[in-house]
Amino acid sequence: MKAHWVTEVMETEEGWGVRVDLLGNRRLKYGNCGGETNLTRGRRPERGWRGLSLRDKPFWILYRPFQVFCPRCGLRVEKVSWARIWERVIQLIALLSKKLFFKEVAQYFVL
Ligand SMILES: [Zn+2]
Repeated sequence: MKAHWVTEVMETEEGWGVRVDLLGNRRLKYGNCGGETNLTRGRRPERGWRGLSLRDKPFWILYRPFQVFCPRCGLRVEKVSWARIWERVIQLIALLSKKLFFKEVAQYFVL
């Protein structure tokens, strides 16, 4: 399921930041029951997920998770799995090391 994409790549003192957003009106996974829906109920504040490090600098994925309504579980926060994104981040590192512009690179990243 390719529902998220990179909108911004930043390098800061704290590390590399990869801002991610939802791609169009995709279905989202939620809760414990493994359901999917595209009916959202607002979003949570942006938070960061820390991932692998590159040259002693950690990567952070920044994202505002959606709230979704599950008929069985009620209001839940979108379940995000960044495993695929970390794979892409590794590819991103390879591209960045070739001195491409961050913005150009980000355009091609559909996660
Ligand atoms: Zn549920």
